[in-house]
Amino acid sequence: MSKEERNYHIETKCQLKAGAHQDAFGSLSVPIYQTATFEHRGIRGVQHADSCGFDYTRVSNPTREQLEAVMALLEGGNDAMAFSTGMAAIDVLMELFQPGDHIIVDGDLYGGSTRLFDLVNRKNGLTFTAIDFSEDDVCAAIRPQTKALYLETPTNPMMHVTDLAKVSRIAREHGLLLIVDNTFLSPYFQNPIALGADIVIHSATKYLGGHNDTLGGFLVTGGERGLELSAKLRELYKTIGSCLSPFDSWLILRGIKTLAVRMDRAQENAMKIAGYLKTNPHVTRVLYPGLPEHPGYEIMKRQARGFGGMLTFEVESTEFAVRVLNHVELIHFAESLGGTETLLTYPITQTHADVPKELLEKNGLTDRVLRLSVGIENADDLIAEFERVFAASEKE
Ligand SMILES: *Cc1c(COP(=O)(O)O)cnc(C)c1O
Repeated sequence: MSKEERNYHIETKCQLKAGAHQDAFGSLSVPIYQTATFEHRGIRGVQHADSCGFDYTRVSNPTREQLEAVMALLEGGNDAMAFSTGMAAIDVLMELFQPGDHIIVDGDLYGGSTRLFDLVNRKNGLTFTAIDFSEDDVCAAIRPQTKALYLETPTNPMMHVTDLAKVSRIAREHGLLLIVDNTFLSPYFQNPIALGADIVIHSATKYLGGHNDTLGGFLVTGGERGLELSAKLRELYKTIGSCLSPFDSWLILRGIKTLAVRMDRAQENAMKIAGYLKTNPHVTRVLYPGLPEHPGYEIMKRQARGFGGMLTFEVESTEFAVRVLNHVELIHFAESLGGTETLLTYPITQTHADVPKELLEKNGLTDRVLRLSVGIENADDLIAEFERVFAASEKE
């Protein structure tokens, strides 16, 4: 990576071919190297095959390598690994730990991450303590066996905001890894490594892909321990084999080209919708960190370049929430987030169905809570859709 590349603004970085590989024809779009293996030029003795840099696609592939170089550049990391899904990335990450290790996690995480910890990692001897990183005393949860802090900011779906610089100081003082799932804001709005994180996770299925048409995930390493962590994770990566395919790597590369304009529009729309929902009598609470009254607003202004396109709101009753979900048309009732289309999710039966009841209660995640992933449609059309949906839900 050249000095210029490192210094460009994030919109420009999204357009770079950060990898060293160039094809013979100068194609602007990175070719899809749809191959499982690579032919060696020869062999130099028993120790060393004369490879052209690639041997087998599970280990590395030119298309995926381009994508990984772009991601490392966008997050300011020393390395990025692309996985078949976000969960595959988190699964490999958890293999860094040994039986007996203890990890402090946020109580309000993506439901699939909580399920992985409970269903797989506990069985393998890891222990977890769930806290609210935005409010609780982190130091009080640290034990001699604690190895890492694991969080999202803003959280999913309750939008708690954690001060990353503050938590990273605690991690450093106690020799803990700081792991941040940055899916909600994407590297366009937030770069946790610059604030002291060691490992950044992404579900590329969301904003990076951006079109609700494929799945992917990343682990990005950085900071002082970046080289050591990337060496360990690369070994696990090639061993476990949950890598991203060449075609899906190409789709995510293509998504990243428009990340900046999509995220700007989604945020602009989210701000307008948050303002509208605040004034609606059926809505009892709007959680959007871009609203000045949100408790995380000032922290977000310091540590991120924007507030994102995700917002959560609570309606007057369970029945009303169900009616809203039944009446949407332009807005899709669907799981997932970060695509061009606006999606409405019901966390209690969808993304967070497997989260233990006590955690849901602690977070105030009730059956009146709806989560909106704001897309890039015209904001007035989205607000008109809400007007129509609320009116129809009143009448029933
Ligand atoms: C979706 C999501 C994941 C899991 O990613 P998949 O690509 O669905 O496996 C992890 N973390 C967050 C914050 C997510 O939104």
